[in-house]
This record gives sequence, structure tokens and C-alpha cells, in this order.
Amino acid sequence: MSEDKTHAPNFMTLQFAAKSENESFARVTVAAFISQLDPTMDELSDMKTVVSEAVTNCIIHGYNCDPTGIVTITATITEDSVTITIEDRGEGIEDLELAKQPLYTSKPELERSGMGFTIMQNFMDEFEVSSEPGAGTSIRMMKRIESKKALYN
Ligand code: ATP
Ligand code: MG
Repeated sequence: MSEDKTHAPNFMTLQFAAKSENESFARVTVAAFISQLDPTMDELSDMKTVVSEAVTNCIIHGYNCDPTGIVTITATITEDSVTITIEDRGEGIEDLELAKQPLYTSKPELERSGMGFTIMQNFMDEFEVSSEPGAGTSIRMMKRIESKKALYN
């Protein structure tokens, strides 16, 4: 008898060169995948914003704009939520608590505003950063899709 595999997790993985021209590709691709959950325009727009912020961080901070770096994104959807991980194998973050402070930026000369992590934290229901200096950074974020929550609870 065949096992019921209907509820196997649905995910996708995307890997691309750390070039700023790939940022919109990443944002649009993740949005297209997530669209299966039928999110509201606001939910979709929040998730596009956080993907852009995290990918920009990998390129600018993780790899210092070295285009041979590789960015990896995985998005997993359940009936009512989206989990996105965005990773680089770049320089990593020495002081995570400091990096997460609103308005903190290590690159004021590039006119960064230091708001990327704060935006990710505010737009998503869960947000975690793990990083190892010299080895890279990984961001994991989860958002519940409100319209689906009503259906499944
Ligand atoms: P903004 O996002 O507003 O343009 P920002 O990128 O400096 O400015 P955040 O996105 O909040 O601000 O990141 C805060 C700091 O954390 C960065 O200035 C950088 O020092 C560090 N950081 C963030 N992401 C990474 C990463 N992927 N690799 C290494 N350092 C990072
Ligand atoms: Mg940033």
C-alpha cells in the first residue's frame, strides 16, 4: 500500500553569485514560490523586502562585494507558514548583538542606514542570525500567512 506523501514539506533552494544584479532575481523567485500559499500583497511585499535586505547583506558585508562568493537561499512552506534561510560563506559577524542594534552599521561610508536586521525582525514572526567569523552567516526567518492560519486552526 502506498504511503500518504501529501504532507511532505515543500521547499526550494536557490544558489547564485554574489552580484547585486541577482538581488531582484532572488526576490522575485522567492516571491513566486511563496505565491502558492496565496499571501496578501502586504505579506508578499514584506517577504520580498526581507529577502532583498538579507541578500544585500551577504553581498556587501559577507563578501565585501567579491562576486565569486555564493549566496544560498532555501524557502520551505507548510500549510500556513514560510521559512526562509539565507546564507553566505563570507567574513561572518564578530559581535551579533551589536550588529542587530537598530541604526548600527559597519559601513557608514557606503551610506548604509543600519536598519536591515531591524526590518527583518519587524516584518517576520521569527528571526535568528547565526554567524562565525571567517566562516559565514546564516539568517533564518519564519512568517505565518494569516489567511491560512484561520483555515488550519
Ligand atoms: P542597511 O541594511 O540599512 O543598508 P546595514 O547593512 O549596515 O545597513 P544591517 O543590515 O542591519 O545594516 O546589518 C548590520 C550590520 O551587521 C552590518 O553593518 C554588518 O556589519 C553586519 N552584517 C549583516 N549581515 C552580514 C553578513 N551577511 N555578513 C557579515 N556581516 C553582516
Ligand atoms: Mg543591511
